[in-house]
Amino acid sequence: MRFQDILEKNRAWVDESMRRDPQMFAREASQHRPKMLWIGCSDARVPANVITQTGLGEMFVHRNVANLVVPTDNNLMAVVQYAVEVLQVGDVIVCGHYGCGGVKAAMGAGAPPLVDNWLSNIRASVRLYADELAALPTEEARYERLVELNVIEQVYNLSRLAPVREAWAAGRTLRLHGTVYPITTGLLRDLGVTVDGAPLQLPAHERSDARAPQASTADAFDDTRSRPSVVMR
Ligand SMILES: [Zn+2]
Repeated sequence: MRFQDILEKNRAWVDESMRRDPQMFAREASQHRPKMLWIGCSDARVPANVITQTGLGEMFVHRNVANLVVPTDNNLMAVVQYAVEVLQVGDVIVCGHYGCGGVKAAMGAGAPPLVDNWLSNIRASVRLYADELAALPTEEARYERLVELNVIEQVYNLSRLAPVREAWAAGRTLRLHGTVYPITTGLLRDLGVTVDGAPLQLPAHERSDARAPQASTADAFDDTRSRPSVVMR
């Protein structure tokens, strides 16, 4: 597909949209009140609006490689703050996907240096869940489980961010969900880690905290992972 094709497709979409609903663009221009925030992977096969059949204005979207919620990522933090405090979304959906190249690379396949640096966040999960992953029979099973664990870890991180905790402290309803998208079937799977009102508790982190040495002597990276509490109160 060429750039020119994109412009032509856009024009066709505008024509079709105006034919179906002449007021659509005027209406969309007058307001921006999405009820949901989607945090997904940049993978071209997992476009949030397409796979959820949501339309214009329905979903605020943030995507990055391997759908990570990293508290030191200013981009992500600005999106979360705006979505929670200004748009006042009621739900945040973290969506990972099987066949994720980012997760695969974090398992050792390698990636360009900057991508590899970004994926260090997933390697922390590999270490945190080393026992569970090692107990799985095949590399493929470990890969799929890591995709799921990575999503769960991002919900964990999200539930400890200041804007989220402040919304909960103010008594607002703000549900955080973890989902996985199988590219082979398209059927979104709920991982059952929804939280509303309190941070997600994970046994792996409790074990990790119990084992961790004093913060001042801990490896800086692991310390961040076992206490993703840069803004925790
Ligand atoms: Zn991916």
